[in-house]
Amino acid sequence: MINNKYKLGFFPTPLHKLNNLSKIYPDYNIFIKRDDQTGLASGGNKTRKLEYLIKQAIDEGCDTVFTAGAQQSNHCRQTAAACTLAGLECHLILRGNEPKTYQGNLLLSQLLGAKIHFSGDGSKEIDLDLFTKKLDANKNPFIIPIGGSNVIGALGYVEAVRELKQQLDEQNLNIDTIFFASSSGGTQAGLILGLELYALDAELIPIKIDKDETQNLDMEAEVLSIVKEGVKLLGINRKYSIADMTLNKNYNQAAYGVLTDKEKSAINKLALTEGILLDPVYTGRAFYGMLDLVKEKKLKPHSNILFWHTGGLPALFDYAEGLQ
Ligand SMILES: *Cc1c(COP(=O)(O)O)cnc(C)c1O
Repeated sequence: MINNKYKLGFFPTPLHKLNNLSKIYPDYNIFIKRDDQTGLASGGNKTRKLEYLIKQAIDEGCDTVFTAGAQQSNHCRQTAAACTLAGLECHLILRGNEPKTYQGNLLLSQLLGAKIHFSGDGSKEIDLDLFTKKLDANKNPFIIPIGGSNVIGALGYVEAVRELKQQLDEQNLNIDTIFFASSSGGTQAGLILGLELYALDAELIPIKIDKDETQNLDMEAEVLSIVKEGVKLLGINRKYSIADMTLNKNYNQAAYGVLTDKEKSAINKLALTEGILLDPVYTGRAFYGMLDLVKEKKLKPHSNILFWHTGGLPALFDYAEGLQ
């Protein structure tokens, strides 16, 4: 199962210490895992999920992939690149109306050969099945859910824990706390399963990116349902409950994709201390959350903290005004 993937990225991604930042906050050692460097058309966390999802599409004899997301979806951009590599046709259904100029991820998705459709309204729920039926003329379609978040996609982050554990062993290092941005839940589900499967003892602090909007979608329940499927698929002998799916919801007051001074300050901080770029939607928000807890000394003194960088660089270019 865990070896049944289609190679799309370059792994392992680097794991290294943020030396300058750790000097500023001497109570902690801060490390970073560079999934912004997975290599697939500018990288990001969806590369790991897509290695499993694209393999499933090929195994099922599909010739066309359908997926959906925001106009600045990193998932859609990486799916476009993955389909090009694997020789699959790619259709992206993006929220809202077509903009005059394509920028950031949207521009890249077009350059990467995806057929782009606009849903016409801003609501987060896109009926992918309906779109697929409408567009699907004599195709053998494969539908990837928003963010690639189902149990197959989550395998990418189960495998990522194995990779991390090997790096920690090689560097003779322990990690106490892992921060990352959580949105559609697949990364979180995969990490939860991976920690158990590979017996890595670290606390996960997923920073919730989306504000609970109209769709009354309970993220903890979504993550739990993926985890439960994973437990079966991987033969894990443990019972999970909703209490194991905790999300930090202290930093999502601004809605999804809204850049505030908080994300901006985090982007500036990492750029100016380490020369590393965060994105305005996900990692900027998650990194702000981590810095806030570090500054307030809310974490165990002298502990080792890992920020899992999940990518998103191209979106920066769609936020030029807000960032200047
Ligand atoms: C999609 C995405 C996330 C969130 O991952 P999920 O598995 O959807 O929770 C985090 N960071 C970036 C840059 C992303 O593109």
